[in-house]
Amino acid sequence: MELRFFNTMERRQMAFEPLTAGCARMYTCGPTVYNFAHIGNFRAYVFEDILRRTLEYFGYSVTQVMNLTDVDDKTIRDSRKESLPLREFTARYKQAFFEDIKQLKIEPAEVYPAATDHIPEMIALIQTLMDKGFAYQAQDKCIYFSIDKFKDYGKLARIDRENQRDGVRIATDEYAKDAVGDFALWKAWDEADGDVFWESPWGRGRPGWHIECSAMSMKYLGESFDIHTGGVDNMFPHHEDEIAQSESATGKKWVNYWLHCEHLMVDGTKMSKSLGNFYTLRDLQNKGWNGREIRWVLVGAHYRKKLNFTIDALGQARETLGKFDALFDRLRKITVPGDGSEAAGLIADTKDAFAGALADDLNIAPALAAAFELMRGANRLADNGTLSQNGAAAILAAFRDFDRVIGCFEVDAVRGGGEIPAEVTALAEARAEARKAKNFAESDRLRDELTKLGYAVKDVPGGQWELKKL
Ligand code: AMP
Ligand code: ZN
Repeated sequence: MELRFFNTMERRQMAFEPLTAGCARMYTCGPTVYNFAHIGNFRAYVFEDILRRTLEYFGYSVTQVMNLTDVDDKTIRDSRKESLPLREFTARYKQAFFEDIKQLKIEPAEVYPAATDHIPEMIALIQTLMDKGFAYQAQDKCIYFSIDKFKDYGKLARIDRENQRDGVRIATDEYAKDAVGDFALWKAWDEADGDVFWESPWGRGRPGWHIECSAMSMKYLGESFDIHTGGVDNMFPHHEDEIAQSESATGKKWVNYWLHCEHLMVDGTKMSKSLGNFYTLRDLQNKGWNGREIRWVLVGAHYRKKLNFTIDALGQARETLGKFDALFDRLRKITVPGDGSEAAGLIADTKDAFAGALADDLNIAPALAAAFELMRGANRLADNGTLSQNGAAAILAAFRDFDRVIGCFEVDAVRGGGEIPAEVTALAEARAEARKAKNFAESDRLRDELTKLGYAVKDVPGGQWELKKL
């Protein structure tokens, strides 16, 4: 099956054809580590995770690079506010980021390069741009990229070059679309930078934000690679400037597919740190929500559509995931003999629908609909007693397969009270088996064992059982 993605550069869906058959090389703009990431940021990282997992699902070997921006205007500003060395300050938020992505079941990238570990690569890239005449040093000692020299400037964000003002220079990392101008590659040291600086051929200073991504992506992925992603707010100026730097330096097309995800919204506005309308993952965990429930909400909307975040949605996620959990428990306990053929058609149809939806630009709604259909079908077969143990096992395997992309189905988690240890559940299983075999001496002995461990077991209709803490 052919994978298709909406390529922002072309503003249309295109078949995915990697540079090297069977391999997908992608770069994802990572966090600026000056604070805890909020769940708006995590929407972008979860989208990239779904993209990565889909590529893997379709058999590609993925090399993903995600940078850590550990030097920029914001990291310097806030580390100075706390009177901490930059490295110490950012280390705290790097660690928090890795803890958070684990909670959200985001598969780790192959490489997480930090900007401060790659200053020589950035200096070399700027030097190339100087040598080729794309960059110049201004009176303020900063090195700027001359956008007039790159005829394709504005091709991603579709900037109107006609109305551009001449002679505008921008040293800040982020700026608006109507402030198009030459942007800083290297910023000369000033007092606000404190002890944060590196020596360069152009004097003391530090890199601009955009050059970080060009230098680090090309170091790990080569001068041309397949996919580059980020949130829509990264398109301009960040990605536009990355393209200008990279393609001017190499003379080659840099990236073949650009994928951008839409914003996570709160009451109609973008969730962002500057507006103060954000939740971090930790805020939500402190309110009792877990990573799986938060991931389910973020996964559930198509990446190119705005998603309005509500606490209600987390409640619905809990309810829905509870239904899947109950199904997995139910399927595990089915012992009806049979070859499983009763479930084969259902499984084949839903798997086809699932893969077809993802191949269509990660169309998540029909992909999840396939999972719901499999749940309904499985419950139907179990209700009328025609589902065999083999059929149930095949359905569980299909959910495991879906979970390679979705990352929310805990197919093999032992339930019955959440934190009950696996050995306790194993004893309860053994007791149920003994009862079924009418070996009541053994089932009584196992009940006593459970009591000693502090658990009461109760039989419920249909050969099922429940555990309670005494
Ligand atoms: P930043 O740390 O601000 O550079 O953002 C990291 C990533 O999160 C970028 O890809 C942004 O585009 C993305 N991002 C920031 N806010 C949101 C939001 N409300 N919804 C979705 N993505 C966002
Ligand atoms: Zn970037």
